[in-house]
Amino acid sequence: MNTERYKHRLLELERDLAARTRSETALGREQTADSARDSGDAGTADEAASEDFTEAELDSTVLKQVREALTRIDEGTFGQCVVDGEPIEEKRLDAAPWSPYCLKHQTELDARTGRKLPTM
Ligand SMILES: [Zn+2]
Repeated sequence: MNTERYKHRLLELERDLAARTRSETALGREQTADSARDSGDAGTADEAASEDFTEAELDSTVLKQVREALTRIDEGTFGQCVVDGEPIEEKRLDAAPWSPYCLKHQTELDARTGRKLPTM
């Protein structure tokens, strides 16, 4: 498998997500600190802060998977399901090159956790 194009995309994603995760987390903290000082508007500020944290959490989840995928490229196991070693469908890798699971195990995981990562 030619992993070069995936590696290129993953490195770009890693850089973008790392930058976004940092700024979103900082923004969340700032708004929480503001709401502590000014209790009049606390409800709105708390809501905004928690939304930012959720987005940052999601980004950091994908970021972790991106970094693991880069490790798998170095180890030569990229494109194989981490559960059963089956090849991951190429169109899934094109859509989400960080995906560690084949379609079967991704579907099982989604069913178990009841949530889906975006762009999967
Ligand atoms: Zn699998």
